[in-house]
Amino acid sequence: MLPPMHQYIGGQRRAGSGEPFDVLDPSTNEPVESVTLATASDVDDAVAAANAAYPQWSRATPGERSAVLAAAAQLIAERAEDLAHLESRQAGKPIRLAREFDVPGTADNTAFFGAAARRLDGLAQGEYSADHTSSIRREPIGVVGSIAPWNYPLQMAAWKVLPAIAAGNTIVLKPAEITPLTSLIFAEIFTEAGAPAGVVNVVTGTGPVAGAHLVGHRDVDMVSFTGSTGVGRQVMATAAASGKRVHLELGGKAPFVVFEDADLDAAIHGAVAATLINTGQDCTAATRAIVHRSIYPDFVAGVAELMAAVRLGPTGDPDTDLGPLSSQAHQAKVAGMVERARNYAAIRCGGKVPLGDLAKGCYYEPTLVADVPIGSELWKDEVFGPVLAAVPFDDDDEAIRLANDTAYGLAASAWTRDTYRVGRASREIRAGCVWINDHIPIISEMPHGGFRGSGFGKDMSAYSFEEYTNVKHVMEDLTGAAEKPWHRTIFTLP
Ligand code: NAD
Repeated sequence: MLPPMHQYIGGQRRAGSGEPFDVLDPSTNEPVESVTLATASDVDDAVAAANAAYPQWSRATPGERSAVLAAAAQLIAERAEDLAHLESRQAGKPIRLAREFDVPGTADNTAFFGAAARRLDGLAQGEYSADHTSSIRREPIGVVGSIAPWNYPLQMAAWKVLPAIAAGNTIVLKPAEITPLTSLIFAEIFTEAGAPAGVVNVVTGTGPVAGAHLVGHRDVDMVSFTGSTGVGRQVMATAAASGKRVHLELGGKAPFVVFEDADLDAAIHGAVAATLINTGQDCTAATRAIVHRSIYPDFVAGVAELMAAVRLGPTGDPDTDLGPLSSQAHQAKVAGMVERARNYAAIRCGGKVPLGDLAKGCYYEPTLVADVPIGSELWKDEVFGPVLAAVPFDDDDEAIRLANDTAYGLAASAWTRDTYRVGRASREIRAGCVWINDHIPIISEMPHGGFRGSGFGKDMSAYSFEEYTNVKHVMEDLTGAAEKPWHRTIFTLP
């Protein structure tokens, strides 16, 4: 299953022309594969391949594109077990998560875009001016340059590639350099499914070299980026120099608001699951529990008890609940933030790197930090680890204000049985998704995307076509007249 070469360009596997780089399994820090990184010249070749494929692919009928996507969905389903193992190893995911979430989610997304490719909506053709017929064409943009993060490598490749190619664009994807392997298999699947060479290309390289070159490339028409807010802003600045369209999916700091009438048991279970999914390396993960003071002590005690029961272990073991963080550098960042929080808040669970067998990997214990001061580092900044900060509130106004006390705006949840609180939280929390009495589920038919510091534009769902298409208005004269009434405004004839 391992891709023996590390770039996928013009329907061919090939080695990169850059330095060798070890992809490590973060559960052991042992190499999974040594790849050769892409340089600027590999990116040039991939962009040229995508440009060469564009005329044919953009003129394929929706039905033809749909058939390729449907065949790819089938191939992903057939290779599900191999993809799950490779994803688990390169990203340090417990195999249960890779099998039950990453791979089926990708297959479903691919099948969804197979269907959606046949339905690009617009205004009805009509005579909005009495003398003209207007129609709308929704056209692909051209070559898309996409940059993806390491937390859900396969799903992020899918979120970038699928709407782009379903709408008739061609793409060059740069996965994160530490997790490139399943993106290469994913690209190859599209060739097997019947996509012409060059429709999906993957360059595996570093951000500053391959990523920056792709973003600034004059033959790339649009940039779609998922990653941290800081790098996203750099990407936007680079793309601005050539005036490219940009789509940014950035970081998050999701509030988890528990009102006094909530089902406390459901909120406790929901908070643990929503904090620990993917070892907290999820941009929508619950990070700030904002809990009514009357139930705050019970919430904190319940979450601490449940978190302590979560099983850390080898990622290949189906009984393992929590895998490692993605790298030693990231583990050090998470541990550093929790260590500093000891000085200003109460660690109620976890807060340590585990010892014993797990010490060889990048593990970190599920961690609950209570009484986190508003404005502190743990309140404001993305940890991207299995760490939940908790604070009490006294009234609904304060709860909503605290939920919105963030530079981000990707996801949020409100826990209540009161219909008026549901209405208020839905309307007033500034985030791209607000869950009610749940936190995390996503679905191919519904959009994912942020407000404010979390970026703009949507992944998944038919809304993503707004990012990957241009709307063209065609206006056709119905009169055949040489002298049109409106000409009188511009010139008058003798
Ligand atoms: P990151 O920003 O460090 O890297 C993301 C990608 O950008 C990588 O492929 C990297 O190589 C590339 N990159 C780095 N510097 C670049 C440059 N100068 N030019 C072009 N590309 C460059 O993010 P990460 O650490 O890989 O991922 C974690 C972050 O991603 C978190 O902030 C998380 O919230 C965010 N994220 C957001 C979503 C979302 O949908 N909003 C989804 C997943 C992850």
